[in-house]
Amino acid sequence: MTRTAVTRVLVIGGGIAGTATALGLHKAGFDVTVFESHPDSAEDIGAFLTLASNGMRALAQLDATDAVTAVGFPLTSLRLLDHQGTEAAHAPLGEAADPALRYRCLRRGELNAALQGETARRGIPLRHGARLESVTDGPDGVTARFADGTSATGDLLVGADGLNSTVRRLITPGVRPGYAGQRVYYGYTAAAPVAGPDGTITMVRGSEAAFGYAVSPAGEAYWFARVGGDPLPAGASGGPSAALRGQLLPLLRKDATPAADLVEAAGDGITVTNATELPLGATWRSGRVLLIGDAAHAASPATGQGASMALEDAVVLAKALRDLPDPLGAFAAYERHRRPRAEHNITVSGGISRGTHAPSRPAPGTAAGPAGGAARPTAPDEDLIRQLAWDTALPADPPAAD
Ligand SMILES: Cc1cc2nc3c(=O)[nH]c(=O)nc-3n(C[C@H](O)[C@H](O)[C@H](O)COP(=O)(O)OP(=O)(O)OC[C@H]3O[C@@H](n4cnc5c(N)ncnc54)[C@H](O)[C@@H]3O)c2cc1C
Repeated sequence: MTRTAVTRVLVIGGGIAGTATALGLHKAGFDVTVFESHPDSAEDIGAFLTLASNGMRALAQLDATDAVTAVGFPLTSLRLLDHQGTEAAHAPLGEAADPALRYRCLRRGELNAALQGETARRGIPLRHGARLESVTDGPDGVTARFADGTSATGDLLVGADGLNSTVRRLITPGVRPGYAGQRVYYGYTAAAPVAGPDGTITMVRGSEAAFGYAVSPAGEAYWFARVGGDPLPAGASGGPSAALRGQLLPLLRKDATPAADLVEAAGDGITVTNATELPLGATWRSGRVLLIGDAAHAASPATGQGASMALEDAVVLAKALRDLPDPLGAFAAYERHRRPRAEHNITVSGGISRGTHAPSRPAPGTAAGPAGGAARPTAPDEDLIRQLAWDTALPADPPAAD
């Protein structure tokens, strides 16, 4: 298959990876349509996340910085407290000096809505309520069929449909996410009883839980707690907020840190989820179909890199399809560029979640991952900068490792 006419790309999933991929492919001149199962903009996704400097760099290549910095709030430093509440470190976070590249804390729904809004603003079709059910890959194209009886045919199909990807199930049925050893609790505390320094995310190395919080400019604390133990049973929500608060407080009260007071004062809306990850070496592509984002390489949330990796994926994929003559060869090149980095993140993040890896070695070029990384700025990775730079051609192969 060669790129003769404008290639039509079907993107399944209108989350972070899917919308960012649509922005990148549209910028590169492709005909792209996004199909999202959720009937509206998926505002209901409760948890928050941090976009790291590498993710913000990818967004900038997609000209989407303004859309995303219109929501959430910036983070410029990382503070570490030990279980006695003593400050062990406090240092700049990532590329803090650059307003476009500094870390950002946002609710997941806000980020999705911002990226979907930007997709619509650029006139890229995004169909809500389109739940993919099956894919037929043939010599002349790939056809996606949806639960509402509609279908669409394109030259390529990108599966950006997240952790429980249907596209992954169709191309590689045996691969499923597994438990990474921790439950993750999320909550919000309005009028936070402890105000952190402005723009700071505070990580608490508690004796029973890894806790983190950042206080928004409006004074609301966004917090999470990662706790080891058995997974939640499949499909379980963990119960109402009062029950979740009751599970956390005895663990947090053991320490003299702000964590317990924050959880005590939290409103309703506490949620819990299992930390999950995909196995290394899973298949990412088959014929005209490619997986990206969490569908390909979901990692435990400990390094706080999943969304940033999805944004990087989008830029590298758009460049591969733009710069390499054969789209299927571009898929293969994309995988060669992305797999080592994405799998390094799965390994490191899973290691932190299981307690087998000290939370001080973020993936190269990711700077300090706030959900588990160290309180030290790291220089951005030069290879990554080149890989993401829109004006630089993507070579078929990544540079050889040192
Ligand atoms: C608890 C938790 C905390 C996290 N914290 C962070 C953090 O701090 N920083 C960070 O960078 N990352 C974090 N992550 C990871 C981050 O949320 C994911 O890596 C990121 O959302 C992946 O983006 P994605 O687009 O691949 O998947 P998603 O964001 O899940 O998007 C997938 C989309 O596909 C749609 N879809 C699914 N099935 C179908 C179908 N059959 N047909 C059509 N559409 C479909 C879904 O509705 C969804 O909109 C966290 C994750 C979790 C679970």
